[in-house]
Amino acid sequence: MGSGCKHNKGDRKEFLRQQVLPDRCRHFINGRYVDSADGEAFKKVLPAYNESWFEVATGGASEVDAAVTAAEKAAAGPWSRTSPQDRARILRRVGDLIEANVETLALAESLDSGKPYSETLNGDIPRSAKNFHFFADLAAHQSFETWTGEDGSQHTSIREPLGVTGLITPWNLPLYLATWKLAPALAQGNTVILKPAELTPLTATLLCELLGEAGIPEGVVNVVHGFGAKSAGEALVRHPGVKAISFTGETTTGSAIMRDAADGLKKLSFELGGKGASVIFDDADLDLAVPTACRAAFRNQGQICLAGSRLIVHEKIATQVIDRLLENVKKIKIGDPLDDTTTMGALIANDHRDKIAGFVEYARGERVGEILCGGKIPAGLPAHLTNGAFYEPTVIADVPQDSRLIQEEIFGPVLTVQTFKTLEEAIALTSGVPYGLSCSVYTRDGARAQKFARSVRMGMVWINGWFIRDLHTAFGGMKRSGIGREGGRWSLDFFSEYKTITVAGV
Ligand code: NAD
Repeated sequence: MGSGCKHNKGDRKEFLRQQVLPDRCRHFINGRYVDSADGEAFKKVLPAYNESWFEVATGGASEVDAAVTAAEKAAAGPWSRTSPQDRARILRRVGDLIEANVETLALAESLDSGKPYSETLNGDIPRSAKNFHFFADLAAHQSFETWTGEDGSQHTSIREPLGVTGLITPWNLPLYLATWKLAPALAQGNTVILKPAELTPLTATLLCELLGEAGIPEGVVNVVHGFGAKSAGEALVRHPGVKAISFTGETTTGSAIMRDAADGLKKLSFELGGKGASVIFDDADLDLAVPTACRAAFRNQGQICLAGSRLIVHEKIATQVIDRLLENVKKIKIGDPLDDTTTMGALIANDHRDKIAGFVEYARGERVGEILCGGKIPAGLPAHLTNGAFYEPTVIADVPQDSRLIQEEIFGPVLTVQTFKTLEEAIALTSGVPYGLSCSVYTRDGARAQKFARSVRMGMVWINGWFIRDLHTAFGGMKRSGIGREGGRWSLDFFSEYKTITVAGV
């Protein structure tokens, strides 16, 4: 991989093609890049420019089958028997190599997804390296519990690898979420088949270049590209050789995967949709709360499962908060993701942009709430961006709780505003959605913050902040936001099989 890649604005397209982009994203099976058996490929569109610069091999049942065969062979080989410490050394090297190639990977991610380069460079890719470093260390320090029975027997529960595991990931944080699953799966001695989102195949493909250099044996990591239903995703879920599926994506896809995995009784982990909220009480530090709530709504163009896409504010301070929020929104700069001054890039695709616009048109047409800003495709973008998937950050006030805008995941730069009078009302509004992933609460009253945090039906609650993470903690959601948890020991548990060995008393 061409490390240390600087982007050259003069002849950008040709330069990037040579430095970052392959002519085709191929599958990575048994340590080699391969095309699909039938040669099928689809054109990948770069969302900021609405242009296709490369193709992606379209995998299906036969590529998944080849990947499972390679992964089964590797699972029977040394990888599963290597000591956790030796595996950790190799995984740390993967993290180091990601760091060494941060600019190349960040450029690729930014082009592929449309998100600002400054965010992939300083956020997504460093975090991908951290996922490897973190799980390498955590897995190397695992211990097993032993109990002694009344008769002197000794009972030890040990963990073993599951074998071949399937990882299916979304497009909103491509390498970040792929490595969040890859690192613990590998640390526990499994072999994997990763099916990246068809909209963002690039960084997973580039990552494979680094694996051999780090010392990961052939067949331990395989990547199969393709689509979901009736394609590579479904074939992976249905394959009898795959023991577990770790999936992050839409809630409805989770249901489909659960149905398809039922016959094989596969172990499943689901991180699904969200409908987060930023809740601001009347004693909050608004210098902190308003800019953070603005970031929570619009970072990554609002395409984060943890996004605070609902602002729920105490009625006494609502006018002041909205005025300050709109000032913050004005500072958001929409533009070319590769431009250092851009703070909002492109959405993932034009049809996703149209889906988001559909929600706003619904609000406009049905007179639901009041659109305070945005609500359209930005005018005046440079010529090379005019066909890109851009949409203005949009704020819609006075939206009733039973509206589609509150109840459904929009997954774009649309923030609704609602007001409350009491703590109980704030809790009811926050919890009154089908999702239960995350929310933030802003108040100077510690007891109130605790009462709120313990009462809401959300898997994660931030007090006076947003998206502050420690990788040891349980990550995941309640209700339609998921099943199971990732992070720390929860990931290590998911990617292992427990076995209890008992020695009879003497
Ligand atoms: P998606 O469900 O459309 O696709 C995710 C992945 O699943 C892709 O790789 C896709 O090809 C595959 N897939 C689709 N149908 C499949 C099927 N029937 N069988 C097997 N695989 C299938 O999701 P998306 O649009 O890529 O991502 C956005 C969604 O992800 C949002 O709902 C967002 O909230 C959610 N998300 C959740 C978290 C979390 O941690 N809870 C994190 C990021 C994104």
